[in-house]
Amino acid sequence: MHFTYCPHCGTKTGKKEIGDEGVIPFCEKCNIPLWDTFTTSIIAAVVNEQNEIALLRQNYVSSTKYVCVAGIMKIGESAEGTVVREIKEEIGLDVENVQYIKSYPYEKKEMLMLGYKAVVKKDDFRLSKEVDSANWVKFEEALARLREGSIAFDIKPVCVYSVLGKNRVNETGEESFGMLYYAEIKTFEQELHSEMEQVLLLDELPGKWTYPQIQPLLVDEVRNYIAGLRIYCADREKT
Ligand SMILES: [Zn+2]
Repeated sequence: MHFTYCPHCGTKTGKKEIGDEGVIPFCEKCNIPLWDTFTTSIIAAVVNEQNEIALLRQNYVSSTKYVCVAGIMKIGESAEGTVVREIKEEIGLDVENVQYIKSYPYEKKEMLMLGYKAVVKKDDFRLSKEVDSANWVKFEEALARLREGSIAFDIKPVCVYSVLGKNRVNETGEESFGMLYYAEIKTFEQELHSEMEQVLLLDELPGKWTYPQIQPLLVDEVRNYIAGLRIYCADREKT
């Protein structure tokens, strides 16, 4: 949320430059900066000792797809505390162990999502009114069942590259830079919702490229990167 009025006294906010943060809404009357705020929410993968994950149906979210336990943090609560509370409230289970995984911004709702893994003993669910049903689902089946749009992937930077010379997208021919990423995709959505017509999975490199001078080189770089990762994993298994 971006403050146009001070939430404490109702005065229209001004602007003030605050160090590296840049120009921030400022209340002259209260003499305080009013930083943009967002809601913090936890989302938890609730798992049991049999490699199963609790997937919920909440008809107010979607009547056809599953979701994970999630909830808004309360003032004075630790994020781990929210995880334990929400799991107890939504599915009636006691958490034995909480482990932080990662965070991500859910920009549409101005939320910061903190992702956790929560371990519980397998038991029957005692559902809150917010939850319409819940199931224990094997890990292998869980991703496909999760809510549409929740595509599972992992993305890692590989290297910076540069291109010299004129082409269709570079009229001056000056050196331009790009960042090469490697994405490990675990689940695709059923349908494509972009300008793309089709995604093909190929074992061999195709013969035709849009930019033949650079694209095969980038693919090679990613192959070297993956090979490096495998060597690293093998080394770790030895020790
Ligand atoms: Zn004020």
